Order: sequence, then C-alpha cells, then structure tokens
Amino acid sequence: MIKILDKRTADKIAAGEVIDRPVSIIKELVENSIDAGATSITVEISNGGKSYIRVTDNGCGIPADEVELAFKRHATSKISDVSDLDSIYTLGFRGEALASICAVARVEVMTKTEDAKAGRRVIVEGSNILENAGFGCPVGTTITVRDLFYNIPARLKFLASDAAEARRIIDMISKIALSYPDIRFKMINGNKHVFTTTGKGIILNNIVNIYGADLSKDLIAVDKKTDRFSIKGFVSNPAYSLTSRIRQIFCVNGRVISSSIIERGLEKAYKERLFQGRFPVAFLFISLPPEEVDVNVHPTKKEIRFDDNAEVEDFVESAVREALARTEAIPSAKIREENIPVSKKQEPQVAKPIEKTRVSEPKFEYKPERKSIPQGEQVDIKKLLSYIRKEEEKKVEPVKPEAEIKQEIKIARPFEPASLNIIGSVFNTYILAYDENCFYMVDQHAAHERVFYEKFKAQYEAIDKVAQQLLIPLNFNVPSDVVTMEDSWLPKVIQMGYSIEYFGNNTYMVREVPSFMTPYEAESFLRTLFTEFKGGKLPDNQKLLDRIIMNSCKAAIKGGDNISLDEMNALMMQLSACENPFSCPHGRPVFVKMTQYEIEKMFKRVQ
Ligand code: ADP
Ligand code: MG
Repeated sequence: MIKILDKRTADKIAAGEVIDRPVSIIKELVENSIDAGATSITVEISNGGKSYIRVTDNGCGIPADEVELAFKRHATSKISDVSDLDSIYTLGFRGEALASICAVARVEVMTKTEDAKAGRRVIVEGSNILENAGFGCPVGTTITVRDLFYNIPARLKFLASDAAEARRIIDMISKIALSYPDIRFKMINGNKHVFTTTGKGIILNNIVNIYGADLSKDLIAVDKKTDRFSIKGFVSNPAYSLTSRIRQIFCVNGRVISSSIIERGLEKAYKERLFQGRFPVAFLFISLPPEEVDVNVHPTKKEIRFDDNAEVEDFVESAVREALARTEAIPSAKIREENIPVSKKQEPQVAKPIEKTRVSEPKFEYKPERKSIPQGEQVDIKKLLSYIRKEEEKKVEPVKPEAEIKQEIKIARPFEPASLNIIGSVFNTYILAYDENCFYMVDQHAAHERVFYEKFKAQYEAIDKVAQQLLIPLNFNVPSDVVTMEDSWLPKVIQMGYSIEYFGNNTYMVREVPSFMTPYEAESFLRTLFTEFKGGKLPDNQKLLDRIIMNSCKAAIKGGDNISLDEMNALMMQLSACENPFSCPHGRPVFVKMTQYEIEKMFKRVQ
C-alpha cells in the first residue's frame, strides 16, 4: 500500500541530507547571519555542538509576523523565481535550513528588527511551534539549538567525539571568519574562548588572531586583477611549507570552498620551489562573475564548479607566481647589477621579503630579522663571499634528507673543525678560519643548526629526560585546533620533559623545558609543533621527527647574530663532536673552503 509520508517523516528525511552533524547546523546559521548583514557574530557550542549551539548576530532580524514562516520548508526571502538561481549573491538560497534544523533538534529563536518595538521569541520542537510571543531583545537574531538528534538517536552514534566535532566547527568558523574580515567573529567552545577577530577588515590580522602570529610571519601578499577575475590573499614563502594542505583556505565570491582546480593552480606556481609532499600555506580570496560559477552542485555547498576550469587554474597560478617572483627579484636584481653570476635560488641574506611586498596590509608591523649588510669598502669581499657561496650551493644537492647524509658519515674527514684557527667573523654571519693549507668560511647559522640537530636527536632518543625550570614562563598562543585536540600531543610533550598547562584563550604556559634543549630551542620546537599540528600526533617516526627538528633549527644562531671569538671556538668544538659537521640538516654547506692555490690564482700570482 502506498502511503503519503506524514510531514514530520518527510522533514526528517530531508533534514538528514543537509544536517549530518553539528557543524552543518552552524554553517547554515552563520550563513543566515551573514546574509542578514550582521557585523558581529558569536558562535557558542557545548559538547561539540551536540547538546548546545547558539549563534548570535546583530543583523537585520526577522519581522515578528515572518518568524514562523522562516521555519517552513522552502521559505526563503532570498530568491523569488528560478532565474534568480543564475546569479546568487547571498549564501542561503535553498530555504530549508531552518526547517531542517527544527526537524532534528529543539530550536529557540529570539529576534528583533530595527523598527520593531519589541523582539519576538519562538520555540519550535519537531516542527511544532511551542511558543511565539513578544520578547525583549536587541536588534538581531539569536538562534539556540539544543539536543541535536534527540528524536533520531541512531544518528547520534554516527557523530565523532565531542572534541572532534568541536574541531570541525572551530575549523569551519575559522575559515568563515577569514573570508569575512569585516565581520567580528567570536568563537566559544564550552567555557573556553577560542578566538575573536576584529572585524576591521584586515585579513592578516585575522590570520594572526586565528592561527597565531608565527604563521603570519612567512606570508607573501598575492594581489592580481583582470577585467573579470580578482584574487587577493597570502601564500607562504617557499622556505615555509607544511606536509598537508591543512592551511590552504580558498574563498570564492565569499564562500569558503574546496577546489581541486585552485589547489592545482597553486601547486603549479610552487612547482620548482617545493619538494614533493610539501604544501604551501595559502589564504586566497577570489572573485569572479557569479554567472561563471555554479555553487549548487552539492547540498552542503562546499564544492563549486567553474565555467572554465583551465582559466581559473591559470589565473591562480600566475597570480601566485607573480607574488613569489616579487620577493625573489629583490636579492638577484641587486647582485646582477654587480655583474656576478647568480643562481635562481632564494638568497637568505635579505630582510624578510614580505616587508616589501606587503601591499594591502599597512597596519601590521613586521620587524626585519637581520641587520643591514655593511656597504662601502667591504663590497668586494661581500661579492666574493656571495659568489663563492652560490657556486658551492650549486655543487651541493639543494636539500638532502638526513638518511642520505648519514651515508657520508663513514667517509674520513677532510679536516677537523676544532683544529682550525679562527680569525674572527664578517657580516656577523661568516666565521673566518684557516689551517696550513686552506682558508675557510663557516656559515654560523648552518653550523649551529647541525650542532642543534644532532644534540636534539640524541637526546630525543634518550630514555631519561630531565627538565629545567624557566625563570620566566613561556606563553604560546596556538591555533584553536591544537587546544581541541590537546589529548593527542600534550602527554607526549610532558613526557619529553616539558611542564605545560592550559591558561585559557588558546594560550599554553610552559614553566619547564627539557634540559637537553636551551629554552630558545625548546620554544622553537613547540612553536613548530603547534604550527604544523594537524589534529595528529607528535611525530614518532624518524622522517617526521627529522622534519620537525629541522624546522626548529630556525631557532639556531642566525646569520647576523654577533657571536664572540670564544663562542666561535665553542661552536667549532661542538661541530667536531658531530657525526657530520660539514652540512646543515637541510644539506647546505657549513664550510666553504679555498685552498692557498685558489687564492693565489685569484691574485694572478699563479696561472
Ligand atoms: P535561506 O537562508 O536559504 O533563505 P533558511 O531556512 O536558512 O533559508 O532561512 C529562512 C529565512 O529565514 C531566510 O530567508 C531569512 O529571511 C530568515 N532568516 C534566517 N536566519 C536569519 C537571521 N539570522 N537573521 C535574519 N533573517 C534570518
Ligand atoms: Mg540559510
């Protein structure tokens, strides 16, 4: 016998397609708030959104006599006929979000429009209106969703843990907050304040607020416009990359989307710059004519379709390439003037390139890391040094994994660093030294990286770890998913010898660090862990560990740091104790040497 489904059943079935987990509800509610012109949106959740969700906005509100209507399926104020579907500017257009949510949870709406005298409160349960009455509230809309799937317990089983559901939500709100820099977003998880963006329209500020200041230091501005397309945003300096696409966020016409087309364009732009398996960070905001995009291909509206995939891919690639080229042009152009051959490789000597390419974000301050390179009389030796270093770099494989470097350990050493006579250093970067036959230049940063790497690795592998107390505790402001997934890394970090505790507002306080690291090294290790965190674990396989350690080598003495003669000697001793003192963990040379003969040739004393 064929039966017509009753309304509640039909609603439940339909709702299942849109609402599979708390994050889907929040997405719909927040999109409605955005459509309502809100400039401030607060999202609160408890138990990963399973028991409690509240979205508060200061948008236009819903007129009192329309609130009930808003809960009806296919009730929408956003399109009136099919032709509107072709150019969609608002985020909602199916007119079924509220109806679907009511079918699977207990919903309360408080809303007030600007010209209404009082607000309205409507309580809906299982598609029945339980209350609809006047209510005192500010202009805007607050929607509270309790007890998700209370009437479909089977569905609850398909939800992940509270922490994992919360992570999805925070991740999504982070992305939405980024794509709407003019809206102030506040995210609260249980009793933890996760982040607040300023709503002042500065993308880079939002990146700092959401993902932490560390990440933002290595970003390069992307900005390109054609008559139909425009792209703005940030990508990472090729020197900074991650092992996944976790920090690639794309936004097309105001929607955060995933797109293999944009991914591919981005990947192509970095082709010669990144190794396989490394991914740049990217925050890209693309606008194109609405009629050239189809957003309606998926019910939760995540994937979109472009009219011309190749064109979008090429546009992304060229915009990112141009951004990268702008930063690389600075060192090579300068050296070319001096008529010295250069390789295309990025020269690490210059102050952070972002200084010069940060086109649209004047309010954010960067401090250049290095002192300026001495000019004037020393120019000749500078040319010489950079020329030699580049020549040497050409000979060395750009980056060798540590596994390969290990093969070289057995080879007899050409000289012993500890036995060199040190003269001093130039440019606060290169230590000068000699022995009977050769003149050496030592890159102090590469040297220290090597020392740090080997020491760290040995200690990490050791069983007994001792902690040292810090005089001044360290504070880490971390991306919110790090907090949510605390269980996956915190115990291991403690086991390494850290004493670390949560301090609220996405901040951890560290009072003790493992004694085998300097406080600076320990800080850098955590910083790298937090930036590279992907809801995953501390690395326990060697490759991952190597990578993390290598990244934390960024904490090593920098070129440009002034070190004393004693410190230089100590560094040479430490290098001698290393298994492989001759290259840094990235495979770059620690020493550049010139034989006496080569020097005499340069002075034309010999042929
Ligand atoms: P859609 O967003 O596709 O139109 P929804 O079911 O999400 O459908 O919402 C139905 C209607 O309710 C919207 O068209 C809008 O008029 C109204 N509405 C929902 N949420 C809000 C809000 N936060 N502020 C103002 N109006 C809202
Ligand atoms: Mg909607």
